[in-house]
Amino acid sequence: MIEAALYNQCVRCGLCLPTCPTYIETLTETSGPRGRISLIKDVAEGRLDVLSPGFVHQMSECLDCRACAAVCPSGVQYGTLVESARERIERAKAPHRGFFSRFARWFALKALFGNLELMRTGATFLRFYQRSGLQSLVRATGLLQLFRLTETEAFAPPISKKYFVPNDQVFEATGARLKVMLHAGCVMQVAFAQVHEATVRVLTLNRCTVVVPADQGCCGAIAVHAGEPEFSETLAKRNIEAFEASKADFYIVNAAGCGSALKEYRELLSGDPRWSERAEAFSARVRDVLEFLDQLELDPRIGRLDETVTYQEPCHLVHAQRISEAPRRLLAQIPGLQLREMNESSVCCGSAGIYNLTEPAMSKRLRDRKVANITETGAHIVATANPGCDMQVTAGLRNAGYSARIQHVVEILDEAYRNYSDGTSRSRSSSAASVEG
Ligand code: SF4
Ligand code: SF4
Repeated sequence: MIEAALYNQCVRCGLCLPTCPTYIETLTETSGPRGRISLIKDVAEGRLDVLSPGFVHQMSECLDCRACAAVCPSGVQYGTLVESARERIERAKAPHRGFFSRFARWFALKALFGNLELMRTGATFLRFYQRSGLQSLVRATGLLQLFRLTETEAFAPPISKKYFVPNDQVFEATGARLKVMLHAGCVMQVAFAQVHEATVRVLTLNRCTVVVPADQGCCGAIAVHAGEPEFSETLAKRNIEAFEASKADFYIVNAAGCGSALKEYRELLSGDPRWSERAEAFSARVRDVLEFLDQLELDPRIGRLDETVTYQEPCHLVHAQRISEAPRRLLAQIPGLQLREMNESSVCCGSAGIYNLTEPAMSKRLRDRKVANITETGAHIVATANPGCDMQVTAGLRNAGYSARIQHVVEILDEAYRNYSDGTSRSRSSSAASVEG
């Protein structure tokens, strides 16, 4: 239910408009936060049908990037508003869904994200497709264009050779000052295993023992964004229990979208008297890995990295978690590294969970805008901190034929630490790797 108290906080000042990616692209009032809040109010007060095409379109076109909420002087909780509106739409649509639609939704949202063994099996098939030569064959046949799957297919991340499966691992740090639990996530464990490995190396080098309990699971962000908060609550409870059992000091996450969802468990479970206190205690202990490292005194044995880097800010790090300077401060500690700021670094790249599947046209417009801002810097590495941004920027740069490497900030830091141990200074500037995938 959408609370009147939430939408009535909006004083229609319009300060949020220049921050909204869809408003910047369309210059249309209804495609901005103020217009969307008006529509939400109209539906809540019975002047507009919840399934009216304009309303459904606007709730879908919104990226839930929270750029508006970050600048709103009235403190409008825009994320809560749009997620409640989506839940309302989903409830109204559910009885009219056919069998195939219901099955597809259940499979994509609940079966895959609820059972990570199934996700890993799916990833293994995808890896076979990507590495066996089948992908090149399919791309050459023109079948993808015929079924309008070119963009979707290009978006799939290269599956890792080895998965990072949570299996009660303990990575002991010499002279440990803290014990932390690593959130292995869902897509991260099959497509970004190297980011987890880098995270473990950097944390242990900085005297933090890392534990990875097997009982954890997906954070539930995709379910919340798709209007299925009840399923998200089930996933939240699993992660809270795993963290409590781990006896770790902090819960570390290296995917901005997951971090934001994990920090919001306190709101998600606030109405459940049996879980609200546990969720509050849990959320207070969640840290993005970059936020966490920035708060530690870093081990100074950082080697040189003679690279030009630009930083793409994930929405759920900069707007939802308000973390913007920490990644830049970490990069600034690497000798030789040159940070070249891009224009509009905090404007959404158009990834936003499954947005590129649900709103492909707007997603592509935002991706192309981001790619233009990146290429203008001439940087050879695009640093980011979220798998969605990584996949979206990778696809965009490949499409534009721009040669650059996309890396998580923690991977760059890891490389600099390894350069110290090796006594080498690496530069890829002269042999910039092309976008892989
Ligand atoms: S900044 Fe806040 S109060 Fe002003 S129009 Fe946007 S949502 Fe409403
Ligand atoms: S969440 Fe993002 S896309 Fe949605 S209205 Fe706010 S700024 Fe615009």
